[in-house]
Amino acid sequence: MPEGDTVWNTARALGRAIEGKVIQRSDFRVPQLATVDLAGWTVAESASRGKHLLLRLTKERRLTLHSHLRMDGAWRTYQKGERWRGPAHLVRVALHTPDTVAVGFHLHELQLVPTDDERRVVGHLGPDLLGVDWDAEEAMRRLRERPERPVADALLDQRNLAGIGNLYKTETLFLRGVSPWTPLGAVEDLPALVTLAQRLLAANKGRWSQATTGSLRKGEEHWAFERAGKPCRRCGTTIRRWTGGDHDRITYWCPTCQPGEAPSGSSTRPLLARE
Ligand SMILES: [Zn+2]
Repeated sequence: MPEGDTVWNTARALGRAIEGKVIQRSDFRVPQLATVDLAGWTVAESASRGKHLLLRLTKERRLTLHSHLRMDGAWRTYQKGERWRGPAHLVRVALHTPDTVAVGFHLHELQLVPTDDERRVVGHLGPDLLGVDWDAEEAMRRLRERPERPVADALLDQRNLAGIGNLYKTETLFLRGVSPWTPLGAVEDLPALVTLAQRLLAANKGRWSQATTGSLRKGEEHWAFERAGKPCRRCGTTIRRWTGGDHDRITYWCPTCQPGEAPSGSSTRPLLARE
């Protein structure tokens, strides 16, 4: 699922493929943009802000094609004449340049806004963990506004800081030994936690695999994420999984390495005996 680093990588790959090129033909397959024609517009820049992708275009004025990948969206590029991989019915837009076609699959919130007005679509976001203007102090200030909130939910809230999804939330909390349900105000050393999240994301910039353990080997990339029922790599306790909180997100954690608060109706004891 796309997290900040995936969107950053996508923006960079798109940029390398079509930045500086003139769009010869555009094909929007969403009702709100069905009549838009971007022929003659130049792709000036491809950028990301948290999990939002901003494709900036120029002609007589400047426009930004905004998209959000959410769980399943993707941008892919193809050489002219190359067969597109991916289901045709999920195509939301295709931008044809002289030698390359950029195709957006299952994009969300697809819209065109004046570039000077980008705040309308990304202005609500907190500091971007992968942005050149990343501001840890401001992220911390926003996080601390609701000290009673479970830290896992607060980290996923893009209004606090932008770019963390379920993977980096899970792994950051594991590595810091913090239970996902700890009220934010009770987290020991919040700056260290935020710094670690930023470091984990930044480490995966420029590559599509998302490793937090230092190993890119399949099955070794993560500490707790998607490892429910398996032994913790540090202590052997069975990694647990729980669904709930804001937006019903899945949380993985090691009850031994991350002691303390646990969801109501759940004990901190492992569900499965360790044999
Ligand atoms: Zn453990």
